[in-house]
Amino acid sequence: MLYCQAARRVRPVSSLGVAYKGVRCMPRGSFRGGIHPPENKSSTSGLPIVAAQQPSKVVVLLNMGTSGALSSMVARGDSVLRGQKIADPVGRMGVPSYSPVSGKVTAIGAARTGLGTLDQAITIEPDGQDTLDESCVPVENVDKLSQAEIVSIIREAGIVGMGGAQFPTHVKLTLPQDARVDTLLINGAECEPYLTADHRLMVERPRDVVRGTQILMKAIGVDRAVIGVEDNKPDAVEALRRAIAEATAGGAVEVAAVRTHYPQGSEKHLIKSVLGREVPPGRLPFHVGVVVNNVGTAVAVADRFDRGLPLIERVVTVTGSGVAKPSNIMMKIGTPAIELIEQCGGFAGDPGKIIFGGPMMGAAVPAADVPTTKGTSGILVLDRAESRSVEPMPCIRCGRCVESCPMRLEPALLHQWCEAKLWNEAEAYHALDCIECGVCSYECPSRRNLVQAIKYAKAEIGARRRAARERGDK
Ligand code: SF4
Ligand code: SF4
Repeated sequence: MLYCQAARRVRPVSSLGVAYKGVRCMPRGSFRGGIHPPENKSSTSGLPIVAAQQPSKVVVLLNMGTSGALSSMVARGDSVLRGQKIADPVGRMGVPSYSPVSGKVTAIGAARTGLGTLDQAITIEPDGQDTLDESCVPVENVDKLSQAEIVSIIREAGIVGMGGAQFPTHVKLTLPQDARVDTLLINGAECEPYLTADHRLMVERPRDVVRGTQILMKAIGVDRAVIGVEDNKPDAVEALRRAIAEATAGGAVEVAAVRTHYPQGSEKHLIKSVLGREVPPGRLPFHVGVVVNNVGTAVAVADRFDRGLPLIERVVTVTGSGVAKPSNIMMKIGTPAIELIEQCGGFAGDPGKIIFGGPMMGAAVPAADVPTTKGTSGILVLDRAESRSVEPMPCIRCGRCVESCPMRLEPALLHQWCEAKLWNEAEAYHALDCIECGVCSYECPSRRNLVQAIKYAKAEIGARRRAARERGDK
């Protein structure tokens, strides 16, 4: 996989032995497998979040992946206000979208996305006033609200997981009746190299992280929450501890510093590291009594309840060897990536690849002008030398991919099943349990595209299952 190859290339030669050593022993308070790639966070980890410049346009996509399609509530030529609802979800899983700016709707139609697809989108040209819609008012008497009312407000605010996957938060908070959940786990691990958006939120807005955590606790009816933070962010741990000490209401909130070890930010691995509970294959966190939300999601919840703001902006880290002045920016969701890169001084040298997210799990985008989304935690620009593709070589059966897989899978074997299109075998060897962390590809000395093959196998298995359901097969 190219992104992992890029991350591998920036590993300092002197660190190789240490990294491999880290792979082979199980870190205490952590999990089996995983790696410690070069963090590459120092260029932005100490930089305060800056406000984005007014974009020339925002492009609000009407297809939100996991949460499905949206239907536009505005027409071309309409004037809209900042925070005004402009699209409603078609399906039950979805959440609405709101205008991040005040201005005029200039187009509703197909727009190129970061995934390289053409999706329907609403394009708005800002008027520069940022006039707030009158519907944006704080929620009063939160303590008197029922769990269902809190969940409904979170859904209506368009809040989704801010860690990248954009899974609708209200769905996570709506638990089956027989679920016995006792702990809310807030994910502040931010284990992806380069990214520092969550880190800066925890340092600069710890009270909002704690406030959002307390509201999320009410939403699921628990009186215990733990914020899990990798121990490479001691300033965030300290800021959160102080904010918790100052907080007056709510149940017990703690901070747990966990070992810096990729993929610590995976839900299942953070649960194991912080709470010592193991989520069995095919099961979800609530099966072991836990609901997990990201720190960015907690801040979005605090923004809705205390400031009346739906989810219209987020922090993005713009970084990498191909950016002149890496920064953490509070951006309006839907801003074209290129405008944020320009705010960071533009490209440095010869840009080769732009990735939304980090080098391990992020995805290369087809062009610099694609719009950002609610899930864009990072814009990573690698220069041409760093992003060069490497030809995969034959497997030498070294076993390194198996040894390092945090899900205890056999990536080399899964890759074989995928090449031979043996989907039943891939399913039997638990391809669906792959969390797509990219560790196997990163570790493979033959540069084999293991994670890409497994992603493909997962998509095939999913399609075959859906087809079987439609046929009525058991
Ligand atoms: S098989 Fe999946 S879970 Fe295992 S290392 Fe590879 S990408 Fe990660
Ligand atoms: S790490 Fe690469 S070379 Fe080694 S066993 Fe796995 S696929 Fe083969």
